[in-house]
Amino acid sequence: MDLRDQLLRLLSPLRVGDELLPGVRLTGASDEAGCRLDFEVDGKRLDVEVAPLEEPGPAAVKTARLRLYYHGNGDGMRVCRAVAERARENEAQVLAELAAGAREIEIDDARVREVQVTRLLQPAAAGSVRYHTLSPYVGCVIGCRFCYAQAGVARVRRLSGLKEAPWGSYADVRVNAPSVLARELEEIRPSIVKFCPLVSDPYQALERRYRLTRACLEVLAQGTAAVLLLTRAQQILDDVALLARMPRLWAGVSIPTSDDSVRAHFEPRAASVGERVEILRALRAANIRTHAVVQPLLPGPVEELAEMLADCADSVRIDVLHGEHGAGRDFDAHREARGDEWQRNQAEALASALKARGIPIWRDELPPELE
Ligand code: SF4
Repeated sequence: MDLRDQLLRLLSPLRVGDELLPGVRLTGASDEAGCRLDFEVDGKRLDVEVAPLEEPGPAAVKTARLRLYYHGNGDGMRVCRAVAERARENEAQVLAELAAGAREIEIDDARVREVQVTRLLQPAAAGSVRYHTLSPYVGCVIGCRFCYAQAGVARVRRLSGLKEAPWGSYADVRVNAPSVLARELEEIRPSIVKFCPLVSDPYQALERRYRLTRACLEVLAQGTAAVLLLTRAQQILDDVALLARMPRLWAGVSIPTSDDSVRAHFEPRAASVGERVEILRALRAANIRTHAVVQPLLPGPVEELAEMLADCADSVRIDVLHGEHGAGRDFDAHREARGDEWQRNQAEALASALKARGIPIWRDELPPELE
């Protein structure tokens, strides 16, 4: 049983679709960037986050083993209390079963857990446009220190009974992802699927061994959904022939600076700036739609970055730093880049420089053609 199903078991005998309280319906659970139970309250979404009690952080309600808090509307406290009441009966057994199944193998210095999942596609929205995210891996052995996936994925790890480990040293491999995806494409018929950079890079080194991103792409290539890919790794070039057969594909590379010494400081295990430009050129040469994502803004000359991106990307998404996460000491060497104002100014300057070169800018999570 995967963690998502175990999260739902905390509320047993309640099932998805049942009411927890009058007017409060359980709609699902997620175990990617954190552990979450999803509810609908009078037509509005309300999420309850489930965290281990020993982990510091906010708490609306505590049980003997868990800390619960919520995002969403003002009914959150009432819902958290009702969740806690049910979780108190089930949490000991659920956590014991998770700990009993907590086994990892070592592959090239990475701690890897091969897991089976029952669900893969996660619903998401950008403004009024709905799409689904897809993660064949959860966790990332590239391990950028500012990565904002790390706190949520570390929580999944703790709740699963695994030992603490540094970000970048572990990943879950969802070995049955392609078959689950094939089933969900039939059931859900998603119109847009985005490989989710919030929890992993689809082309991290483990992909060469497991080829799950490739297998998922092969499944998607049979359907009609628009597909978005984003990476910081050269392994995407292994799949150029497949990507070129997908007419509704947007393939992108993160390029947060033109200065490779800055890139190496913040993202030491990712592809170099030059390699990333070459990736985009190779994708473009295969007639694949390309984009670049600049997030966060890292120090380096803006005009040079704009020139570089205009040369190899059909469109660009720009987004600022969302917290330093594990990169506090890295930013000591580039103090200006940790400031909100510097991030905003740099983003505006880059947007102007790209507009001057005729490059479309993404305003949100999706390319302008899909908004
Ligand atoms: S490559 Fe992406 S998912 Fe992986 S650590 Fe870096 S930012 Fe996070």
